[in-house]
Amino acid sequence: MNQVFNFCAGPAMLPQPVMQKAQAEFTNWRDSGCSVMEVSHRGKDFIEIAAKAEQDLRDLLNVPSNYHVLFTHGGGRGQFAAVPLNLSQASDTSLHLVSGSWSKGAVAEASKYNKPVVVGELSEKDGLQYVAKPVLDNTTSGAAYYHFCPNETVDGIGFDWLPESGDIPLVADMSSTILSHPLDVAKYGVIYAGAQKNIGPSGLSVVIVRDDLVGNARQETPSIFDYALAAKSDSMYNTPPTFSWYLAGLVFEWLKDQGGLTAMAAKNDAKAALLYSAIDSSDFYASRVHPDNRSKMNVPFQLADASLDALFLEKAEEAGLRALKGHRMVGGMRASIYNAMPIDGVKALVAFMQEFERVNG
Ligand SMILES: *Cc1c(COP(=O)(O)O)cnc(C)c1O
Repeated sequence: MNQVFNFCAGPAMLPQPVMQKAQAEFTNWRDSGCSVMEVSHRGKDFIEIAAKAEQDLRDLLNVPSNYHVLFTHGGGRGQFAAVPLNLSQASDTSLHLVSGSWSKGAVAEASKYNKPVVVGELSEKDGLQYVAKPVLDNTTSGAAYYHFCPNETVDGIGFDWLPESGDIPLVADMSSTILSHPLDVAKYGVIYAGAQKNIGPSGLSVVIVRDDLVGNARQETPSIFDYALAAKSDSMYNTPPTFSWYLAGLVFEWLKDQGGLTAMAAKNDAKAALLYSAIDSSDFYASRVHPDNRSKMNVPFQLADASLDALFLEKAEEAGLRALKGHRMVGGMRASIYNAMPIDGVKALVAFMQEFERVNG
């Protein structure tokens, strides 16, 4: 089989060394004669793995000691409900910056549980999609939290500033950007992420929550979504997704081997710069996103002649460049270039784009 580069937005590519390690110990984990999938989450071996994964994640993100790290079910969308249930009462408002389709989805879910207020929306600048930093007025004071999504996976929109929220805790959906660069966790109330973009396999989500925001869940909160119960039981109130947790742990070890998040950020910057410069240097391809807000993880681009889309995708597949079809709401192409995508994958994509333009332009 020729080398394949998988640009899927999620579930996404995992690092080769991680999968090789998982494969090597798949049927005989820690000389137990069993797979990690077959052992109790309450057994000594699994508890050790789980604790090490948490510690490695804490090390990578430099998580302060007054934050809980929770490993939960329900993916990113589960947190769309868990956040309002844990952080707000039905009469409370929650503030939302809507920068794309995922942060919009969070508003729809929150509206079942509290009174969301949209304080900023995706706009345009120079004819391109742009996110302006919202300015809050005094009508927003007293909100329970302020939700935003710094990397919009579908739209390919990102920003590296933090919304100004005063005393209102910031809640960030980092499903597609967590671990791609260093973070100052202390600036956030809650950070959450579904695993299947940049952490590991689907089925797991990670929640990093400041301890004063734990323990106030509404009475009707499903127990599996209650941050306090999860914290008290080391995320084992019920059976966690053990295999995903184990694999996430291997990814964290791999990230440490790579030099941690500063090193990853440099690699991610280089990959994104290479791809955007290929898009910008040609009239055959275009980005609809303002340069200030271009995601470094998910890169949508359009062919000037959309009638060539199908041929582009067919030839890309033949060249081993997989899953480049854009999200159905956006169209065109999208290349997701998370941590696991090596720069060689981006180079191969750029070379393919140039050759495709030469032949079809
Ligand atoms: C993928 C994604 C989600 C949804 O994740 P699920 O695990 O499918 O619920 C939410 N937010 C963002 C930013 C995402 O990329």
